[in-house]
Amino acid sequence: MSDIDTHTEGGTGSADVDAVVIGAGFSGLYMLHRLRELGLSVRVFEKGDGVGGTWYWNRYPGARCDSESHIYCYSFAEELHEDWEWSERYPEQPEILAYLQFVADRLDLRRDIEFETEVTSATYDESSSTWTVETADGERVSTRFFITAVGCLSKPFRPDFDGLDDFEGEWYHTARWPDEEIDFGDDHVGVIGTGSTGIQFISEVGGRADHLTVFQRTPNYAVPARNRPLGDEEYADIRANYDDIWERARDSRLGMPFDWEQHTAFNLSDEEIEEVLEERWQQGGFRFLHAFEPGYILSNAEINETISEFIREKIREKVDDPETAEKLVPTDHPYGSKRPPMDYNDYYGTYNRDDVTLVDVDEAPIEAFTPDGIRTADDHYDLDTVVFATGFDAMTGALLAIDIEGRDGQTLEAKWEAGPRTYLGLGIHGFPNLFTITGPQSPSVLTNMPMAIEQHVEWIADCIAYMDEQGYDRIEATEDAETQWVQNTNMLAENMLFSEAKSWYRGANVPGKTQVFTPFPGGLDNYREICDRVAGDDYDGFELDRVDDAPTVEGR
Ligand code: NAP
Repeated sequence: MSDIDTHTEGGTGSADVDAVVIGAGFSGLYMLHRLRELGLSVRVFEKGDGVGGTWYWNRYPGARCDSESHIYCYSFAEELHEDWEWSERYPEQPEILAYLQFVADRLDLRRDIEFETEVTSATYDESSSTWTVETADGERVSTRFFITAVGCLSKPFRPDFDGLDDFEGEWYHTARWPDEEIDFGDDHVGVIGTGSTGIQFISEVGGRADHLTVFQRTPNYAVPARNRPLGDEEYADIRANYDDIWERARDSRLGMPFDWEQHTAFNLSDEEIEEVLEERWQQGGFRFLHAFEPGYILSNAEINETISEFIREKIREKVDDPETAEKLVPTDHPYGSKRPPMDYNDYYGTYNRDDVTLVDVDEAPIEAFTPDGIRTADDHYDLDTVVFATGFDAMTGALLAIDIEGRDGQTLEAKWEAGPRTYLGLGIHGFPNLFTITGPQSPSVLTNMPMAIEQHVEWIADCIAYMDEQGYDRIEATEDAETQWVQNTNMLAENMLFSEAKSWYRGANVPGKTQVFTPFPGGLDNYREICDRVAGDDYDGFELDRVDDAPTVEGR
């Protein structure tokens, strides 16, 4: 239970705290810090028993971040850079978790975080303009502002296969991995899924199990990450140039400070394009997606096909058996229209091993689990352990898992029945004083996440400071602004190649989910400008007002 005062009258005229934040990952930790700097009282509720969010839960073998470590961190405090050093070009899950623990300690954040506490509902009271947030153990806390920092990829998705209850082996989901080492030594292991997670897991565990069977529905374009230790000299250079690195990252489409060789390929010959691509292939990681301006790659079908074909040829070169190679070559979607995964550990070479088998479950789908393994439409595979690398109910899943009720008794679930509707991915009409960090229709997953998170957290903190200065109690997105923003996001997505893939960006991975493109695809740089203009224009598109029965927060 919380050590703060809670009250159960339903909140008229008083609130327990200024803000409740849900989640203690990158977003929640920084939000807490910023609100505290404003002198506000804050409670953070976190389901896990420690900080970390995504990096608390995703502990599967091979888990690593595809953003380069020197930019996969907070930019806001120099002292954090001075006292932290990343060991490799891409950070492994334990190192990111250690970083977030370091930040929590350094900023003394834990005292306002209640761990192992799941928020089940949040209800808005119009007369006082407060939210009452309720937890699974029945605690109720009233607050002026309700801020979700629940992450975009945090509600795991597991397909509902017949027979799983009868399966006599062990099964795991990568996003709920046990906090202990699993020895696959003598096991026949099956893994379902070849997205970013599956690709990391497969290349890590291939060779560590007696046999690994990969159930692949759709192949992907894995680009070599080219991970390596970060040397002292390189690190010194990063530190010396951090101001410039952050400035360029903030002012970029993807929240990454990388230049491109050429803005477009219009004036280049085929040979010159090939040269650019080869050079970028050698650099690896997201630098490959910057061979040309990423927005151009993601919207020009011709150059995209050239790049896709370049990667397909690389896959064919790496896989010995031509039949297996063809199964691994993606042809159903353009490069980048699904989140491009990275290859850390010779992913494609893994399929040259005798103890690794690729099964095409697009051709012959999984029909059911049996007590001994998995039955597909044309075979049976004996398995001791099955790993679901089947992803997430992305973007909306974690928000809708909370029973959120706004003005006039409207629930978020009902409002979003035909897909999420937000203004800037930050505010929702009918849900005053609710802010959604990296919410649907904001750039979030199409960027280097910490950059998008910082922009949202700072915008929200500035907005609350403005409201307090001006004496406003309530802020709500207008219906018009929301409608225009949703239309704008959809239109941008339709004009890009995203519409050609069945991706989790569109909710296509979860059966029955409304399919609508969810992140804002117009670039973090443009988005930041729009948000700044909105704020500079007295929060254009939001309605701000005073409330007679506005709450006071005790003890502040
Ligand atoms: P994902 O990209 O959604 O991949 C899920 C995989 O499971 C896909 O291959 C999917 O096939 C397969 N699948 C789902 N249902 C299936 C079924 N019924 N039968 C057979 N196969 C099925 O999930 P993820 O790999 O966990 O990645 C999600 C996102 O998390 C990434 O895109 C990335 O943004 C983030 N992530 C980042 C990192 C990193 O930075 N290193 C690492 C991991 C994840 P289909 O493609 O056919 O649907």
